[in-house]
Amino acid sequence: MNNGLQPESPLTLLAGISSREAQALQAAGINTVHQLLRRIPRRYEDRRLSLAVHQLQDGETVCVRVHVYGAAWRFSYKRYFEASTGTDGDPHGARLYLRWFNMPYVAKLLATGMNLSVYGKVKVYGGKLTMANPDFEVMDDEDAGHRLVEAAMGGHPMPPPRTQEDFISIHTGRIVPMYKGLPGMAARTYRALVWRVLQQIPPHTPAPGYDAAPTYPYWQAMHDIHFPASEEMHRKARLRFALDECFKQQFRVAWLRRQAHDTPGQVTATCRAYVDELLASLPFQLTQAQNRCVDEIYRDMASPRQMNRLLQGDVGSGKTLVALCAMLLAVGSGKTAAMIAPTQILAEQHYRNFCRLLADTDVKVSLRTADRRYDTGLVLDAGQQDTTPRIIVGTHALLYKKNRPQNLGLAVIDEQHKFGVEQRESFIASGQNPDVLVMTATPIPRTLTLTLYGELDVSIIDELPANRGEIVTVLRNPANMKRIISFMDKEMDAGRQIYIVSPLVEESETRKQSSATAELARWTEIFPQRRIGLLHGRMSAEEKDQAMSLFSAGQMDILVATTVVEVGVDVPNANIMIINDADNFGLSQLHQLRGRIGRGEHKSYCILLSSAKAGDSGREKLEILCRTLNGFEIAEEDFRLRGPGDMLGTAQSGMGAVEFPEWLADMRLIHRANREAEAILQADPQLRAPIHAPLRTLVDFDSAALSN
Ligand code: ADP
Ligand code: MG
Repeated sequence: MNNGLQPESPLTLLAGISSREAQALQAAGINTVHQLLRRIPRRYEDRRLSLAVHQLQDGETVCVRVHVYGAAWRFSYKRYFEASTGTDGDPHGARLYLRWFNMPYVAKLLATGMNLSVYGKVKVYGGKLTMANPDFEVMDDEDAGHRLVEAAMGGHPMPPPRTQEDFISIHTGRIVPMYKGLPGMAARTYRALVWRVLQQIPPHTPAPGYDAAPTYPYWQAMHDIHFPASEEMHRKARLRFALDECFKQQFRVAWLRRQAHDTPGQVTATCRAYVDELLASLPFQLTQAQNRCVDEIYRDMASPRQMNRLLQGDVGSGKTLVALCAMLLAVGSGKTAAMIAPTQILAEQHYRNFCRLLADTDVKVSLRTADRRYDTGLVLDAGQQDTTPRIIVGTHALLYKKNRPQNLGLAVIDEQHKFGVEQRESFIASGQNPDVLVMTATPIPRTLTLTLYGELDVSIIDELPANRGEIVTVLRNPANMKRIISFMDKEMDAGRQIYIVSPLVEESETRKQSSATAELARWTEIFPQRRIGLLHGRMSAEEKDQAMSLFSAGQMDILVATTVVEVGVDVPNANIMIINDADNFGLSQLHQLRGRIGRGEHKSYCILLSSAKAGDSGREKLEILCRTLNGFEIAEEDFRLRGPGDMLGTAQSGMGAVEFPEWLADMRLIHRANREAEAILQADPQLRAPIHAPLRTLVDFDSAALSN
């Protein structure tokens, strides 16, 4: 019955596809059979349960088998086509009236005497059981069934039906797949197309690419994920694809790890003098965890292999200082060290910090951002660069060829998750295999570390400096602001500063969230005598800068802000953070925000405002936050609450779409995939064996992207 469709066959080869349909698919980037099928259902509707008409109840969404006793156009406030139906063989029993509005083609498909399978929501109107625009299939009339599929296929004539299979129900009476809408194509049409494509692929067609789960044939699993016979079947099919995806991802990681370990690098730590000088000048000692991380980094940098290390630590654990030590090792060894930060505010803050910390040394520190006015001491005269070993702090501007640091020995990437993989690579490519240190903003779950950074060695700062003021986190209802306001007043009298954070910039009509601009007006009214400023992402870099430096300098009492303060801002005198509509933020984001306080010796207060009641979704994460300050614990909880796919989205911008994210939560699966990948690479490091050929495409990274 099939004409041997292959995964890469263009859909135009599909018998009976109309040009309009082909165009709609093409517009959505769906050209081949495989692309059509890789759009897996977004959800399913269980239409298996079939009720008798007399069992129907108002408001239920159900599947029913009915017999058509009459069908006609009706006119009331609207014109519609109505079929009067009931249980087959019971002409005097209960009636169900099916009504189709604006769907004139239905009239051509239905006739008295047919048996239908119908799916829709029952509504009682004027004492009658009705269903508006139900999905339906003709169950026994061959010609009608034929017409129906034609209609679903956009009116294109179909070859005459040959087998019973052609009348199997697709849209009712089973677990029915629901797809994300496509402009210009009805969901039902898409479903019918998928069905027909699946019928036309020879079952023993090999899986496209490397298949990590060959015991469950790919196309069988594809069929099962679109049209699962049971929930169990669906789960199995998803797991099969998840396994495949997990393996491919872990294979890439294993490959990268091997590459990294085989990459010759530079010896960038020959002398600790600058580090020792810095540490001796600090008013505090490094924590044990910081010391351990510096040692790990030192060892990597002193070796001729390229360092590829991830530095993970909680907010405020002092990652920047560890990174600075690494940079001083490089400078002490005659190399330049560069740190790239995601925002101008952060880059400048690092720059000022480093200048202050290194004021008594002869280490040169420079800043390079998109805004040349702030650039310092890099260009001597037109076109000529000063190549003295130094520390350079910059933003994305460092990625441009003309700005790339000379003599780069160490590349540090702050807030790694704000950069894509390509940006990271491009930055690293600016030197002769420089050592690389990447830093995350907050801890991420262990499985994600393995997935996103599996090729890196990891150093963890799991301890906060001892001098930290305590942070108290409380959950309050915004209806009781009075006490909070007098508390704020008292703290400001004592010289402290306050952050007020809101989810959105401007009042949106649809969501009643307080916004930063409205907040500014509100707080100015409450505290007319205080200095209150605004910080949000839509301000110009200059305005942001000005607000930030006023606040850092203590010339502003309250900073009303959006999440731009989330990223690494460090003002030790600020000890109160008020978060409006706190339940609208993610858990890790709230933790990151809270990390802006508790940075000095003062006791700090994070006040989460939310009207979410006990048991509301959104409330649980706030309670977790009140309970613990441990970022590693919070990351795992966040992962549990949000699920892997969602969490991945915010943890990393550079990783491709994950279609079956369930494996991300499964450490055992990841380890297993990892072991398999290692074993393959161990046996065949260059992937020369023919069976490994498909694996080569997985690791064939686009090196052209790195060259400009
Ligand atoms: P994060 O890890 O969030 O980037 P930072 O590096 O910004 O944290 O450090 C937060 C603050 O803690 C900075 O003001 C830094 O100078 C200070 N700090 C770092 N290490 C120590 C330490 N061992 N003892 C006391 N304070 C420290
Ligand atoms: Mg930081």
